[in-house]
Amino acid sequence: MARDPREVMEYDVLVVGAGPSGLSAAIRLKQLANEAGQELSVCVVEKGSEVGAHLLSGAVFEPHALDELIPDWKDKGAPLTTPAREDRFLYLTETKALKSPFTPPQMHNHGNYIISLGNLARWMAGQAEELGVEIYPGFAAAEVLYDDGGAVKGVATGDMGIGKDGEKTANYTPGMELHAKQTIFAEGCRGSLTKTLFERFNLRDGVDPQ
Ligand SMILES: Cc1cc2nc3c(=O)[nH]c(=O)nc-3n(C[C@H](O)[C@H](O)[C@H](O)COP(=O)(O)OP(=O)(O)OC[C@H]3O[C@@H](n4cnc5c(N)ncnc54)[C@H](O)[C@@H]3O)c2cc1C
Repeated sequence: MARDPREVMEYDVLVVGAGPSGLSAAIRLKQLANEAGQELSVCVVEKGSEVGAHLLSGAVFEPHALDELIPDWKDKGAPLTTPAREDRFLYLTETKALKSPFTPPQMHNHGNYIISLGNLARWMAGQAEELGVEIYPGFAAAEVLYDDGGAVKGVATGDMGIGKDGEKTANYTPGMELHAKQTIFAEGCRGSLTKTLFERFNLRDGVDPQ
């Protein structure tokens, strides 16, 4: 099937994935650029239909990093409203739950919050947009693009409207190319494009699987 030419959009920084990592990176970059009085275009693509749609985890959240990134997060209405009040460390058998008399120090949650990660990401996306980050939900990065020297130059989103037979349907729309001086892959663990980068640049050679 012949591919139609793809529209190209240029940015300074492109972030793939609007999870907490990608959004933090986008926010921090815009904060630094604004402090330095510099123009910096930052775009985030997210494959979920909206930011947070693919983040299903309820989480116990340690707010240290958020304190550093957005110190006035409480005033800005961050969805951290349920402090962890009590820790219980249980040993589960088939029929019983035995409470340990003490909780190991690394399991202490004093100062942490019980949150919805999806809600946190949605709130962070709002903060990022206020700083001028462009966020495009509903766009999965489907292909890494390389320049003639072999360096990453961005990503392409997938073509839409391809039939089961691999041919274009009436709804066919070619994907878009997003080019950037720097591309940050923040797809979470087991990201499909990140895996291709591991292989191409031998990033997993000799490193601990964890
Ligand atoms: C069951 C479970 C429970 C957890 N509980 C806790 C907890 O209690 N406390 C805690 O601190 N952590 C917890 N974690 C870990 C925490 O969820 C992760 O560390 C965190 O979400 C990682 O953030 P991230 O931004 O790197 O990736 P993710 O949160 O995975 O975000 C990646 C984003 O990128 C998008 N994306 C991926 N590929 C593409 C693509 N090609 N194009 C466009 N978008 C893409 C995804 O849709 C997603 O929105 C838990 C994880 C799981 C699975």
